[in-house]
Amino acid sequence: MPHTFDIAVIEGDGIGPEVTREAIRSVEAAATLDDATFEWTSYPWGTDHFFENGQMAPDDFLDTLAKHDAILLGAVGGPKWDDPSAATRPEQGLLTLRKELGLFANLRPISAHPQLVDASPLKREIIEGVDILFVRELTGGIYFGESGRRESPGGEAAFSEMVYQQDEIERVVRLAAEAARGRSGKLTSVDKANVLEVSRLWRQVAERVVREEYADLEYDVVLVDAMAMHLISRPTDFDVVVTGNMFGDILTDEGSMLPGSLGLLPSASLGESGPGLYEPIHGSAPDIAGQGIANPLATVLAAAMLLRHSLGLEAEAVAVEAAVAGVLDAGHRTADIAAGGPAIGTAEMGQQVLDALAG
Ligand code: NAD
Repeated sequence: MPHTFDIAVIEGDGIGPEVTREAIRSVEAAATLDDATFEWTSYPWGTDHFFENGQMAPDDFLDTLAKHDAILLGAVGGPKWDDPSAATRPEQGLLTLRKELGLFANLRPISAHPQLVDASPLKREIIEGVDILFVRELTGGIYFGESGRRESPGGEAAFSEMVYQQDEIERVVRLAAEAARGRSGKLTSVDKANVLEVSRLWRQVAERVVREEYADLEYDVVLVDAMAMHLISRPTDFDVVVTGNMFGDILTDEGSMLPGSLGLLPSASLGESGPGLYEPIHGSAPDIAGQGIANPLATVLAAAMLLRHSLGLEAEAVAVEAAVAGVLDAGHRTADIAAGGPAIGTAEMGQQVLDALAG
């Protein structure tokens, strides 16, 4: 029986519509491998919606999204939000979306394509062979703890509380451990247990989960400050890295610099049930929006993650990833990865992926 998958698309702002269009085309092309068909429902939520209606999305947006099998997101944000003191910001909308949909784990694969290692700011011998999967806890920790201002003897003071519950740590460590089993079997947990009580609980719980349920894994713990150094001095030593929300936010951005281009990196946010959210890690790139030159490959690779994690279509996911690798091997480049050489546009790069899938 052919199965129809129902996917929500939030194209968002800037280059969002341009790159999601190519990702949808690649999924449609990959689906010919199977009997799967797709229904794409587009939701026009983002900056324009906010400035017309006073909110990024309608009040019932969570119910609307929860009905879908998965969500594909371009990017939100842009110059209209430049005022840093604005009461509402697109980032806030994304935090709410992740929290309300229970998307507690953010997966960011970071690998260096052999043909593009020279685009990295790091030396070839350091970057060659990098293949890391970051698993960042996404709905707890300091970004969701209590915060406020108070008077202090030194004047006004502010606080942001970092809290983790045992079950929040357990579920994200389990998800990371499962991912490690499907890869090289190596898991690294990152914390700040030499200073923070919350990290001491993280370490204690993570170690117990791995000892009791994943004793087959090679497991180690690294302090976050050391990890910031190791990531650029010996990144090939890591496979799956699991960490809390703020440490993960910082380390994944550092990690995203390793391959040398934002335009190639996807991300998935997963919960226990309900739709996962898939997006490129880059933003709306207002400086190049509407020019047809954005690199669509990060969003195409996000769509491959969607096929794998939300739809269970592993063969199709592998086919899309292989097509992207083939296109890069063949030397096709958008401007961001062309190093000043000849470049093709967004739609043409998308077409190259389709041709590779067909070939
Ligand atoms: P950005 O990622 O949009 O752009 C940074 C630089 O990388 C720009 O020079 C841009 O042209 C380039 N770039 C990004 N993606 C590219 C692609 N696919 N192909 C070619 N070049 C690409 O980051 P920014 O400029 O700091 O942010 C722009 C807006 O996006 C801001 O409003 C920000 O808040 C928002 N943003 C949204 C998300 C999201 O929706 N998840 C993430 C990050 C930033």
